[in-house]
Amino acid sequence: MKVLVIGRGGREHSLIQKFSQSPQVTNLYAAPGNAGMEREAECVAIPETNHDELITFAKENKVDLTFVGPENPLLDGIVDRFQEAGLLVFGPSKAAALIEGSKHFAKQIMKKYSIPTADYEAFTDAEQAKEYIRAKGAPIVVKADGLAAGKGVVVAETIDQALEAVEDMLLDGQFGEASQEIVVEEFLEGAEFSLMAFVNGENVYPMVTAKDHKRAYEGDQGPNTGGMGAFAPAPDLPEQSYQFAVESILQKTASALVEEGRTFTGILYAGLIQTAKGPKVIEFNARFGDPETQVVLPLLENDLVQVVLDVLDRKNPQLQWADQACAGVVVASAGYPGSYKKGIALPEWSEESGLFAVHAGTKKVNDGYVSDGGRVLLFGTKAPDLASALQSVNKALKVFDETEDFFYRNDIGKSAIIAADQ
Ligand code: ATP
Repeated sequence: MKVLVIGRGGREHSLIQKFSQSPQVTNLYAAPGNAGMEREAECVAIPETNHDELITFAKENKVDLTFVGPENPLLDGIVDRFQEAGLLVFGPSKAAALIEGSKHFAKQIMKKYSIPTADYEAFTDAEQAKEYIRAKGAPIVVKADGLAAGKGVVVAETIDQALEAVEDMLLDGQFGEASQEIVVEEFLEGAEFSLMAFVNGENVYPMVTAKDHKRAYEGDQGPNTGGMGAFAPAPDLPEQSYQFAVESILQKTASALVEEGRTFTGILYAGLIQTAKGPKVIEFNARFGDPETQVVLPLLENDLVQVVLDVLDRKNPQLQWADQACAGVVVASAGYPGSYKKGIALPEWSEESGLFAVHAGTKKVNDGYVSDGGRVLLFGTKAPDLASALQSVNKALKVFDETEDFFYRNDIGKSAIIAADQ
């Protein structure tokens, strides 16, 4: 079977690594892929945005299955295009992907179908938004309706901060079209976790939970990033909260999308917060999360190709999860998420005793790799428990201690270990 993965980041490298373990796969392609994927796949220089060329490639090379990694091509309707061309593809249609593409739409669905989330109002008028904020008080959260590369959310501690966010988004067009409408919502308190599922219509097959660390520096300080590390499962989440999240959030949302005529097929990601009243939704994504995928997929014991084919056929894929923990720590370029240098040679690392390296921003030069992005690599491993997994990863990361050009967080997963022990 010939499989094509669309995308170029760590999430897609993790997918490539998993697909490469399938005995059914004869040819594995990545478009456009990255340097790390060249070990397991043939990288094809077609960007995610060029749907015509991707379709031509899939047809000419008789690709049997295409898996779409990132959100942008999904929201641009790549799945609809592949289907119209008679190609087998895994991911939501443009209509279903709106659950990620519009925060207002996602909130409307949650309100209509009583899916637990923060109270909210949506606005296009700045004065009305400001009035609402003054009436509600701080802390309060202001969100751009559309995609803003993870930067469209302001958790305002004061009313003034929230009012400023309204002006930036609605009056100054900070995120262009994505911030022509905003959602203003109640601030929720609690520990965050994510839960993803393979979905086809009403059929929902949940994965294990995961947690990521978004802030750049230790102690969850500093600016937001694409994620500095992750682990799975969340060791401190009660089983009943997991069941609630599966039944009352993921299952309900999948059924709601069918009801709305936007049947969802693909990976549904719920960003959740464990409040005093149980889990509530912070956001939905219409694809695998990054870097959560890098620590969830290694725990999946099934053949990923078979899982995807079964889900597409509406057959239960009978997911099996290793009774282990998986942790991953990101090595980033010094300066990230601000400006940083590219092209710095990476030290050699060893991938022994189950350690794996997922590439996100690297380039191959002669025999080695150089940096080519903010988040460069993720080192991960599985172990009987989270503490042992982190110990192995941190040991492997020591090669990066000798250089000032890269940094990583030493405290990924620590707070969860402490919480689970209490
Ligand atoms: P990403 O692109 O990283 O997935 P996003 O831009 O879609 O993020 P959200 O996930 O909705 O934005 O929010 C980003 C972060 O802001 C959350 O992880 C959470 O820490 C915080 N946040 C969002 N909504 C709330 C809320 N209602 N209460 C408290 N914190 C919130």
